[in-house]
Amino acid sequence: MTAGSGRRSHGPLVAALTALVVAVGCAAGGVGESGSQAPREPAPKQSSRPAASPEAQTTRADGTTSVAEFKSDIDDAVAIAERYWAAQFRASGQQFRPIRRIVPYQREGEVSCAGQALPRNNAVYCSQGDFIAYDVNWSVAAFRQVGDAFVFYLLGHEYAHGIQVRLGIRANFTIQQELQADCMAGAYLGDSVRDGTLKLDAGDLDEFREGLLAVGDDPDQPWFAEGSHGTAEQRTDWFFRGYEKSVDACNLG
Ligand SMILES: [Zn+2]
Repeated sequence: MTAGSGRRSHGPLVAALTALVVAVGCAAGGVGESGSQAPREPAPKQSSRPAASPEAQTTRADGTTSVAEFKSDIDDAVAIAERYWAAQFRASGQQFRPIRRIVPYQREGEVSCAGQALPRNNAVYCSQGDFIAYDVNWSVAAFRQVGDAFVFYLLGHEYAHGIQVRLGIRANFTIQQELQADCMAGAYLGDSVRDGTLKLDAGDLDEFREGLLAVGDDPDQPWFAEGSHGTAEQRTDWFFRGYEKSVDACNLG
């Protein structure tokens, strides 16, 4: 995935989805909703396909990428999400306020949301304080394992929770809030690809789709359970609904 003026791409999106959808443990109203539940570690399959991108040499042979690249992708993802939602709000005549801060952390308890210490291996949007916080070691590990799309999805999904709060959207069940955030992440990615802000490698979408089928909550997880994010099918459906049809498909009201 290449951002902006074609700076770089870290490799195929294929593996990205496998982790990007399972790895996100978050909550719209603070960490309370899912904070007690540790998100599953990403277990992406590694692509055997060589990266198609000419910039792929920035990925080392063992698949790792530098922290500097990670940080740059975080910055890009935030900037693109910010611009995207600002335009959406402008189009509907609403004032837009960007999410105040993006906060990396390393230790449990280093950052709190509403008095609750954020655990490691997590990423959240905290409505009290209006910030996105993420365990930087966990995120970098996922980034190295999966690829840069993880970062764009992760930020897009968490940013969507901030947008939900701005729009006053408060679903009855976690899963509704989460699937809508997946849809909104899909919308920001799809629209950004369509307008040339982001570039995908050929064939990535098909593999993206295949990857999504392999993820999601366990089938025996009740949909109404606290922390439910949705089955692989639901998450695939909602992500691509947004990706293909833009925000209108996300029932923002
Ligand atoms: Zn979420």
